[in-house]
Amino acid sequence: MRLAAELDLSMIGTLHGLCARICREHPEAAGVAPGFTVLDDEGGSLFESQHLDDILTSLDPDGFGAGGVPFSQAREAVRKLLAEPHLAEAALAVLDRPWEEVEAQWRAAIAARRNEFRASPAWRGPAEAVRNGHWPPGGVLRDKLTVLQTALAELEQGGDFEAGLRRLAGGKLGTAGGAAAADLRRQWNALPIAAEAALKRGIGCDLTEADRAVHTRARIIKRIYDATAAELWARMARAGVLDFAALETGALRALRHDEVRDWYRRRWHVLLLDEAQDVNATQSELIETLVGLFDRPSVCIVGDAKQSIYGFRGAAVEEFGRLNRVVVEDALQGRTITLAQTYRQHAPLAEQLNALFAVILGAQSSPVFSTGQAPHDAERHVELAVVDAPPGIGVGPRRRVEAAWVAERIAQWVDGGLAVSDGDATRPARYGDIAILAKAWVTLDAYAEALAAKGIPAVHAGGGDLLATREALDALAMLRWLAGADDHLALAAVLRGPWFAVSDLTLCDLARRAGERPWWPSLRDEPIEDLARARQVLGELEQAATRELPSALLQRADALTGYSAVLANLPQGARRVADWRGFLDLVRRLEADGPYAFHVARRIKGLLDLEVEIPRPVLQAGNAVSLLTIHSAKGLEYPIVFVPDMARQPPNASGSVRIDRSRGVALGLPGVEGQDKPYLTRVLEEAQRVRDDGEARRLLYVACTRAADRLVLSAAEDAAAATDGESKRWSLLHLLRAGWDALGWPVETIPFDERAATPPLVPAPTPPGPPPEAEICLAAVGLGLHELPAGSLDDYARCPLAFRFEHVEGREAKWTGLGSGAREVGDLVHRALAEGQRGIAALRGIGELGDIEPAMSPELVAQAAERVEAWYTDAAFAPVRGADDRLEVALLWPVGPLLLVGRADRVGVGYVVDYKTGAEVSAEAHRFQVWAYARALDKPEAFVADLRHGELHRFDAARLAALDEEAATLARAIVAGSFEPRPAERHCAVCGYRSLCPAGGATPRREALQ
Ligand code: SF4
Repeated sequence: MRLAAELDLSMIGTLHGLCARICREHPEAAGVAPGFTVLDDEGGSLFESQHLDDILTSLDPDGFGAGGVPFSQAREAVRKLLAEPHLAEAALAVLDRPWEEVEAQWRAAIAARRNEFRASPAWRGPAEAVRNGHWPPGGVLRDKLTVLQTALAELEQGGDFEAGLRRLAGGKLGTAGGAAAADLRRQWNALPIAAEAALKRGIGCDLTEADRAVHTRARIIKRIYDATAAELWARMARAGVLDFAALETGALRALRHDEVRDWYRRRWHVLLLDEAQDVNATQSELIETLVGLFDRPSVCIVGDAKQSIYGFRGAAVEEFGRLNRVVVEDALQGRTITLAQTYRQHAPLAEQLNALFAVILGAQSSPVFSTGQAPHDAERHVELAVVDAPPGIGVGPRRRVEAAWVAERIAQWVDGGLAVSDGDATRPARYGDIAILAKAWVTLDAYAEALAAKGIPAVHAGGGDLLATREALDALAMLRWLAGADDHLALAAVLRGPWFAVSDLTLCDLARRAGERPWWPSLRDEPIEDLARARQVLGELEQAATRELPSALLQRADALTGYSAVLANLPQGARRVADWRGFLDLVRRLEADGPYAFHVARRIKGLLDLEVEIPRPVLQAGNAVSLLTIHSAKGLEYPIVFVPDMARQPPNASGSVRIDRSRGVALGLPGVEGQDKPYLTRVLEEAQRVRDDGEARRLLYVACTRAADRLVLSAAEDAAAATDGESKRWSLLHLLRAGWDALGWPVETIPFDERAATPPLVPAPTPPGPPPEAEICLAAVGLGLHELPAGSLDDYARCPLAFRFEHVEGREAKWTGLGSGAREVGDLVHRALAEGQRGIAALRGIGELGDIEPAMSPELVAQAAERVEAWYTDAAFAPVRGADDRLEVALLWPVGPLLLVGRADRVGVGYVVDYKTGAEVSAEAHRFQVWAYARALDKPEAFVADLRHGELHRFDAARLAALDEEAATLARAIVAGSFEPRPAERHCAVCGYRSLCPAGGATPRREALQ
């Protein structure tokens, strides 16, 4: 019981939640402004994209031009440094030293590394064998041996070390000397192999002419970074926000203070860290600091190095090893408990995966065991199939053949009732039991098309970049055109896309008629019949663009063209509609910083320029085959898993900047390639290649272990054809074959089939039909009324006539009885909470900015400060004070033909919150307002926070569902023009329209009631 109670009191959350808590509880020690809001990954990227270029371009031009640092390289470097400021601090410290000192240190390091290598058994044994080798003159083997001996002698006498290694690596003996020399050849060949390995590890790298220039350039980058980071963090402080990197750095900074460590030593006695293989260097140091607070055995670190696959976002598997050493060896002398039983795979599959990954992962592998029975008979539950195509066939047709084979296999298994596990029992496989996992989401379309061609339901469930989807590009083209009607490229994209599906022939006709003129005036003026509908719709959108939010414009464009209906009828319709909605959500978030299409289009361009990835919405597959990226499948499992497209080449490492905590910042130089590259660049590139290789092997492990019963691996071409030996980056197939071939397992051949190689027919988009009903309804309201404040339905529910006065006729109310200054207090409280300000002085500062009532008395400011303080300290609001909540979120929600517009005060993971500050707060009186917030932001619960009385009123899912129909009824009544007065003493007493109302005069004024 005591343990259960203590568990309730424990802090359970993410590492970022922990950092946020430390920063909030010790803002001064953390060096952050109190009352901040946390920006999640996406929010941080959005903030950075909004400010970074602006800051960089405002820097002193000497910072760039004088040192010859290109803007793009400075931006890349600054972004990488900002991603982990703590790491950046250490790396940049190297640049404080003069070049001569750094050069001497590196030369010593190079020499030490080479000496260590030459002293290693891996080199000494083979070198000794070659040095003392002998073969009679007159044959190829003798010549080749002489070449090796000469290269070795030169290298040992201090010749060019890297050139020597290359000569040795290129001196393999092949079959020279025949069978009689087999044993000697094996001994001598060990030297070229060792030389090759040394080159891969960068042991041959040496300083070049470019290194001094890079050091100078990196010092300029340091200046740029220092100035940019300071300004960016100042802007964050002014906005009252912190991104994840700033949170981690702040928490680490706070924990350097003795009193902060003492504080947590008294509060926390146990630490459990899960998924520890995914920590980055800063988080690792933070955990190590926390571990230092505890006594054995109060720390438990859980992780699996084999599943560390997030290196691309900063996770470092070696940090997991370091934490292990801290807990097990150094500080706490703990012990390692191996969790070796798997409850996912049955025993035969577990054993086969053990055998495979013992080779692929080597020392990192750890076998698991299972007591589960296989649900069906098979010689092996893992199989590999590769397309066998005639020479000259491209990867596109090969992949389609592979996809058709995958679809055929799925159909056979489901139609044939292949048994899969279901708890302790078995049952026939369904489509929903099957997942197709690919390394890159872009190739999943080929498999989705093949499944669709066979009538197999499939859903592209997750993974990938929203901004790279067709739907985002369509919507962005529309926003760009709305932002500037003379953008004829955007207009062409809009006309050609599913908005209007205009043919290229018609576009050519438009271009011909436009001549030198912009396209839009020509489209407006020229009577081209096929463009009549586009002319009408775009004309309406252009007019609306001056008064409507960008998301409302896109929704209007959708309603007028049937865009989302077209999407729904295309292959992968559910996926496309989800991406369209995901893009609308993104636009709503961006509207908070600027309400016009121009602002939003510019922000999205900024995101694209910085290659910020916005995750696509996740879809539930139901009884359909799930298509996912391997990364998005982590943590999931399926009875049957296909991993196709294994021959895909990994992309080359992008970028010209690399950062290393102890060695500094490496920069590529234009035109400087190969052995002329700077030493540090080459060393860090080699290190990155080793890390990428390890991560690719672990990615393969994660993909294969998603399968519970059956695993099918396939490729469009074989490993040898798919290997790019030059780049030393291997496809998953290449890595797999090392284990597969060692086990002697057979590879199935997928015969090349011309028919399957032809692209499947994709239905053409449905051309736009007649104007949809929504347009007619909008016009039928006939009152210029289609967009209303979110709270207006509550106004209508109270009194339709008062609603008419306010929202239809736009009359000004003569408010009485609200209490002196109540509105001003409310405004100030909302502003303070949105900006994370607390305390009388801070609130007075907001008032002095001018747009809150300038005449607010000290008493009113004090009242506002009291309400703000209540929000932060009153336990009643704790359930909705999420550290990662978003504030002031703009939203729109359609109710019939009406569009409710608003801005939610606070949005958490599963809720929305509206603050109220008045003397009398009736949550019911605001039910439609918070309902609209919850519906528009897709949250299951809504809350009204009464800051004056410390009460939190909840609208749960059932209550919100009940309001759906009530809201629709009210909207219908509004559209029908029903505005009868509804006198009620409580409302009429404070009504601002009493003087206009034929019914209200009968009720006493509020003053009379008091
Ligand atoms: S006075 Fe009463 S009935 Fe008249 S408009 Fe106001 S609330 Fe409605």
